[in-house]
Amino acid sequence: MMQQVVLCDADNTLWDTDSVYAKAQEALLSRVEAILDIRNLAHGRLDFVRRYDQALAAKHHLHFRYPPIMLVFGLADGLRGGSPDVAARAALTGHRNSDAISIPLAEQIVADYVGARDKTPGLLPGVEEGLKLAQRRGLGVYMLTEGRIEKQRKIIEIHGLGWAFESVLEVTKTVTQFRRLRERFASASVTVIGDQPDRDIEPALSAGCSAVLIPSRFRPAWHISDSWESATYVASDFSDAIAWITKMPAAI
Ligand SMILES: [Mg+2]
Repeated sequence: MMQQVVLCDADNTLWDTDSVYAKAQEALLSRVEAILDIRNLAHGRLDFVRRYDQALAAKHHLHFRYPPIMLVFGLADGLRGGSPDVAARAALTGHRNSDAISIPLAEQIVADYVGARDKTPGLLPGVEEGLKLAQRRGLGVYMLTEGRIEKQRKIIEIHGLGWAFESVLEVTKTVTQFRRLRERFASASVTVIGDQPDRDIEPALSAGCSAVLIPSRFRPAWHISDSWESATYVASDFSDAIAWITKMPAAI
């Protein structure tokens, strides 16, 4: 019987999904700039794309899963001076301010963008070391994913980490779901590891789990926000997270 269970977020906790997205988004911006012949963004290019991306996600019922063709047209408006809000509204209603990008061309851009986004992300620092330590100490490690189970299994396989996980669990990260997992492993201590305070840490704590935050490495280390403080422990990387868990009492 496992005494210590670790429920582990995948994107930006185990592997660097953020870098893959960043590259794909910057390439998308370059494509749109080239077509419009507008190149006025020397700095903050990624930030620019993400403002339009977030404006679309905020307005679309599929949130960040909105059809990416909207981002193509949103960025085109943005490069011509439209605010994220206005550009997102125009993209959502199918209102296009220019014919510079035809629908077939936009679809081609989207195909390349989606291909770039699907590249296999690299492992984050300390992940292999941490997983080996977890195995040596007999921790039961489960990977959590919100609805991309096949893709995540494939990334595990490509990195040769099949040995490291008891299984991959598809969950929505709500208090209810974490509570269900807490009950499933009732005789063990259960710790959630993740990079997002609102998605990983807070619901896990509310469900009676411990929660270790590994802050996104793109955030400066000195910028400790209030929401970090709720985490049971803030780790410097994945192996630090596992090392901390191995020092916890085996059962609560
Ligand atoms: Mg994550």
